[in-house]
Amino acid sequence: MDYGMIGKIEKAKRYAAQRDRIQFLSFEVAFSGENSKHVVKYAENAWSCDCNFFQTRGVCSHSMALERILENMIPETELSSEE
Ligand SMILES: [Zn+2]
Repeated sequence: MDYGMIGKIEKAKRYAAQRDRIQFLSFEVAFSGENSKHVVKYAENAWSCDCNFFQTRGVCSHSMALERILENMIPETELSSEE
């Protein structure tokens, strides 16, 4: 392996430990819940999920789980900053 690539791999390791460098702008995931599968989306600082709970509350276990997984990689919502 050439030195240029070795340097890039070292930099990638440092970046990977600095999660706040990365901000998700949008994504869509398939979420296997306990009862059924759901599609959770994130775009323009807003979550959406096709589960029934989300339709009435605007937040759900699926979106909150992803917020925890992606800590510091998406802008904090009012709900999560209350913790
Ligand atoms: Zn949901």
